[in-house]
Amino acid sequence: MPIHPRQIFQGLLNLAFPAPCAVCGRRPAVLCRDCLAGLRAEGLFEPAQCSRNGLEGLRLTTYTPACAALMSSVKEQGQTSVWGALEDELRLLGEGLAARWPGARLICVPSSRSAMRRRGVNPAEMLGRRVARAARLPMVGGLRLVRQPQDQAALSQDGRAANLRDSMSFNAPRGQGGPLIIFDDVVTTGATILEAARAIRAAPGAPLVAGFCVFAETLRKRSPDEPKGSMFSPQAK
Ligand SMILES: [Zn+2]
Repeated sequence: MPIHPRQIFQGLLNLAFPAPCAVCGRRPAVLCRDCLAGLRAEGLFEPAQCSRNGLEGLRLTTYTPACAALMSSVKEQGQTSVWGALEDELRLLGEGLAARWPGARLICVPSSRSAMRRRGVNPAEMLGRRVARAARLPMVGGLRLVRQPQDQAALSQDGRAANLRDSMSFNAPRGQGGPLIIFDDVVTTGATILEAARAIRAAPGAPLVAGFCVFAETLRKRSPDEPKGSMFSPQAK
């Protein structure tokens, strides 16, 4: 992936004025050692299964306030070195991915044009490439937006699904390959991932969609009729 001028600028800026830690805001490191140790001690980074609408997924962590602060420093301040600080954690996710779906290929959800203009990069794709590398699985392209949806943040679950419905299309990559795992940075209602799965399945000659993989899952409030213990760690530690 080409380096965007904004990343170079951010790198130079960090050398001159080290960014404060995204979590505690004190020490001059994008994620300071104390905060990282604290998050690890809390067991925040543990690959676990999740699912949305019957599609199975794997996530590294849950969307806690600390996780939100980390994601925001990457997405809004361009502090992509956060992912470097979390290299060991991303390796865990990659290993979990490769163990769960050996021979699969990763495909990243597309970023909207306005988000690309604002950020210069697709943060989910940057993260997906790191996870794919850790998993030693190939990453393929082919998903794109055919119309520009609104920002999802303020929408309800139904609103998100309606906003994204039929917003993506998929062109199957040339050649044969394993099933696809859809990658995104965060899953909340699942609307984005489910729209990606729909677009892939609708394309002629499309490979199988085996599941999805995300950095963080926003935990939903469990409804009373939902079975307990539907989320569990796939690996005994
Ligand atoms: Zn800190």
